[in-house]
This record gives sequence, C-alpha cells and structure tokens, in this order.
Amino acid sequence: MKILVLGGGVLGVSSAWYLAKSGHEVIVVDRQPGVADETSYGNAGMLSYGYTNPWAAPGIPFKAVKWMMQDLAPILVSSTGMNAHTAGWMVKMLGQCSEDAYRVNKNRMLRLSEYSRACFESLESELPLHFDQRQQGTIELFRDQEKMDSIGADLASLRECGVEHEVIDHATCIQHEPALANVSDKFVGGLMFPNDATGDCRKFTLALSEACKNIGVNFLLNTEIQALETVDNEIQSVMTSNGRLTADAYVLCMGSYSPLLVKPLGIQLPIYPMKGYSLTLPILDESKAPQSTVMDEAYKVAVTRFDDRIRVGGTAEIASFDLSLDESRRKPTEFVVGDLFPGAGDLENAEFWCGLRPMTPDSVPVIGKTPIKKLFTNTGHGTLGWTMSQGSARLLADIVNEQAPDIDTEGLSVHRYL
Ligand SMILES: Cc1cc2nc3c(=O)[nH]c(=O)nc-3n(C[C@H](O)[C@H](O)[C@H](O)COP(=O)(O)OP(=O)(O)OC[C@H]3O[C@@H](n4cnc5c(N)ncnc54)[C@H](O)[C@@H]3O)c2cc1C
Repeated sequence: MKILVLGGGVLGVSSAWYLAKSGHEVIVVDRQPGVADETSYGNAGMLSYGYTNPWAAPGIPFKAVKWMMQDLAPILVSSTGMNAHTAGWMVKMLGQCSEDAYRVNKNRMLRLSEYSRACFESLESELPLHFDQRQQGTIELFRDQEKMDSIGADLASLRECGVEHEVIDHATCIQHEPALANVSDKFVGGLMFPNDATGDCRKFTLALSEACKNIGVNFLLNTEIQALETVDNEIQSVMTSNGRLTADAYVLCMGSYSPLLVKPLGIQLPIYPMKGYSLTLPILDESKAPQSTVMDEAYKVAVTRFDDRIRVGGTAEIASFDLSLDESRRKPTEFVVGDLFPGAGDLENAEFWCGLRPMTPDSVPVIGKTPIKKLFTNTGHGTLGWTMSQGSARLLADIVNEQAPDIDTEGLSVHRYL
C-alpha cells in the first residue's frame, strides 16, 4: 500500500518506520524544513516508562489550585487560554478525576508504556541510533519528608501495575547522583525507577528518519497540510501547499494540530495544546551535573543529562496555541537547575524553548482506526509522547496491516470518545 503519514514528529517518524518495515511505500508530510521541529524538538528527555501517570487523578482539582498559587507555579493559565474551547476541554479532564477513571486510564497508559519499552529495546538492538542515550534510571526527588511519607497510594498503584521502583533514602540518592552531595540539605529522599532511560528526543527522531530513508521512506517537507478530502465517508486525498496527494491509507500524527484537520469531517478529537518549556544548557562542570534525570517533585521540573548538555523541562501552561516565549517563564526551570545542580551548566548560553503537548483529557493517546475509511490516528500522547512512541507506532502498523497486535487495543482508539 501507499501510505501518507501526516506529521513528522517522533510519532510520525516512528509510524513511518514500522509501516515501511512491513513493506509499504511511505511518505511523511510536514510543514517544517526538518523532522521533530515542533513538540518533539525540546522535551525533557525522559523515557519514563515507570513514571506513567494520567494528569487527571483524584484530588487533582484541589492540588491544581494550590500549584497555581505556588511561587514558581508548575501550572499556569494565561489570558490567551481563556476561551470556550479551553473550558470545554477542562470539563472533560475534570470528568476523568474519579478513582475509577484514574485506574482505567493508568492501566491503559502502562500497557502501552511497557510495550513501548520492549519495542524500544528491540529497535536499539536493530539500529545503531545515537541520541545521547543513558540507561541509568530516573529519580523523583522529594524536598520534604511529609510529602515523601504521603506517596503510599502511588506506591500501591506501582506495585499493582508491576512497575519496578525503589524508595531510596538521602544517601542512596547521592550514590546515584553524586552531584546532589553539593546540595544535601535540599532534599530528603527519592523514588527511583531503575528501568527508565533518557536521551534527546529530537536526535532520536532525526536518527530514525535517516534509518527510514535507508529503507525507502520519502519525506515531503516544507509542505502545509490543509484539508482531508472525502467521498462517501472515505478519504480520497489530502490537499497541501504542494498540491493534492493521494494514497491507500492516511495516518494522522500532527500532535496538537490533529483535531483541526479532522473537525471538518465531524470527528471531535479532544486534544489540547498544553504548553511547556525547556532550557538546554551547555555543561560547564561535569562533576556538578546530573547523571540521568532528577525530577523535582515540588516544582514538577525534570533535569536531564545529555552528553555535554543539561535539559531542564517543565511547566504546564493553558495558553491555547500561543507559542510566544515569555522570558518570565524561564524562572521555574532556571531555579530548579540552579538550586539542585549549581555551577553545572551555562545559564547565560542556555537555549530557551516551548512546545505544545498534545493532551487528551484522560492522558491516553488516540491510536488506530477512525470512523472515516482509510484514516488512522497516532496522536494525543501528551506528556509521554517519546516514551510511548515505539509501542504506539508498532501497534498502529499492526492495525493498518490488519494483524493481531501484541497488546490489547481496548480503550486506545478515538472510538472511546464517540
Ligand atoms: C516541556 C515538555 C517536556 C516533555 N517531556 C517529555 C519527556 O520527558 N518524555 C516524553 O516521553 N515526552 C515528553 N513530552 C511530550 C512529547 O514531547 C510529545 O508528546 C511528543 O513530542 C509529541 O510528538 P508528536 O509527533 O505527536 O507531535 P509533534 O512533535 O508536534 O509532531 C507533529 C508534527 O506535525 C506537523 N504538523 C502539524 N500541523 C501541520 C500541518 N497543518 N501541516 C503540516 N505539518 C503539520 C508539525 O510540524 C510537527 O512536526 C514533553 C513535552 C513538552 C512540551
């Protein structure tokens, strides 16, 4: 079959890989001059298979209000985000905060994350990909004992889902992350996920796109996707700034922009563009830098080691599609890296970036068939798009190929919203 993959972020390129591997002629279409130039460009760099949690959870409405009032707030609402679309999405998300919904959503996410880990491992054994990767686990760091003593429910859920983890004391945190010895009064202990990994998602996507080209995938870049054209509920073509394109199947991987393309076809994809920020610092002093990811529980900011850089990512801002870079938003990331790893990186020469996480109200992505013939989705991966990328793309390819997938697809497609 000839297949058009619409969008060249980490989900589009990964989908192209598994589709081309199964023998299809694949073309990836993207408006940017290169792949991974939008949300997959500057994320926090965590392959956090263990730290897989829906945002909508019991108690979240109360906690969110508390966080918003906190100094260096992890959640913000900006004036551009105050509209009916945002309100509608928030209502849907709040509807997912019950105990029952949380359990269902978490199980769906973990099913996909665990599968992704296995797919990632087999991909890495097949291809020599270089993306500043490290396999040293990640640590959620607690600044106060009261908070650390209150994670009992999270631990029970991790045990129930079979996620390997370890509660570690102050000394063990330093054993894993020696630079934390310089700030030993700032934390009390941590929660370690030994199977989590780290790396640069953009480098990964670029390397995978090269591997895609080697097996015949074509990339049609600098091309705006404008509309899907249908006859009798079946896609006939896609209109782009480079003319009309036709194929036997179409895979929607446009991240936060996916809903805009299918809305005229009557499909309401509840994906919200949740803005986040990152800073990337050249390393000044290796001995003061992290070894892997340290996630600061208090500020919800992750500090991740790349080869010769440090990536610091966080903040959830409700700002609709506004991609402006307000300098004041640097504060939480600057504070955390300076507080936990002082002198490690060059803040003066840091790259400041923002991107839009494609968030669904239940935090579960939207993968598989749609009510429109020939149209498939692999989108809506929110905070964990890179983590879930390989499992999602492999699953998508199996669905397109009408082969039995390795995991249960229950609750993963758009049909759960219809
Ligand atoms: C601050 C931050 C930190 C994060 N940290 C992590 C992390 O540590 N681990 C993790 O797993 N995930 C993380 N994420 C989430 C992750 O980055 C995303 O889920 C993932 O990048 C989404 O990939 P995607 O391919 O769906 O979207 P994108 O990367 O946005 O790709 C969509 C593509 O579609 C193209 N496109 C859109 N509209 C059109 C159009 N009309 N015409 C042509 N092309 C179009 C875009 O150019 C883009 O290339 C983070 C996100 C943010 C913002």
